[in-house]
Amino acid sequence: MPRESVKAKKERAKLIWQELKLLYPDARTELNHETPFELLVSTILSAQATDKSVNAATPELFARYPDAPSMAQASPEELEPYIRTIGLYKNKAKNLVATARQLLKEHDGEVPNDFNTMLKLPGVGRKTANVVLSNAFGRPAIAVDTHVGRLAKRLRFSAHENPDKVEGDLEKLFPKNQWVFLHHALILHGRRVCFARKPNCVSCTLSPYCPSSRV
Ligand code: SF4
Repeated sequence: MPRESVKAKKERAKLIWQELKLLYPDARTELNHETPFELLVSTILSAQATDKSVNAATPELFARYPDAPSMAQASPEELEPYIRTIGLYKNKAKNLVATARQLLKEHDGEVPNDFNTMLKLPGVGRKTANVVLSNAFGRPAIAVDTHVGRLAKRLRFSAHENPDKVEGDLEKLFPKNQWVFLHHALILHGRRVCFARKPNCVSCTLSPYCPSSRV
């Protein structure tokens, strides 16, 4: 395939975005939450776990520990029974308690609305910070998880494996006001159509604009 110009790629990105809007008009996070703190906790728990498994565990967890002050008083061992159905729960319990204590000590128990400050919280990387900032505070951000990374590659929006670089490539192709929707729509498309092993290209309406289409 001849090298695609930046202009052509941006035009293709626009068509794909329009198609994603038709497919997933209400795309948003599937992690249940009511506060920025709950979203932060759910996002930390969702690393290498399904949203479904996280949503099954969080109602009881949030009933017992609804905010940073209450979670900061717990020990990791006290949290474990609430999240033991989720992968890596021992490590996540440690990070949650440490994060709650840091929030209490440095931020009056509130989740900071700032990317670099969030990165200093235990268990919080770029992806988690972007998910929380975009969903809880409406900040433009693209969180690159496994689905977004795979779709970006198949759609030839990025040739990189490194999520930070994929994030940068996507940010250059799409206007800021499209970032949050794009992130959620790509996740949904990865879950429902563009599967990791066998992408369902025959049913995919992005196929005419996708260089990896097998149709
Ligand atoms: S055409 Fe195939 S590879 Fe391209 S986005 Fe659709 S399912 Fe994925």
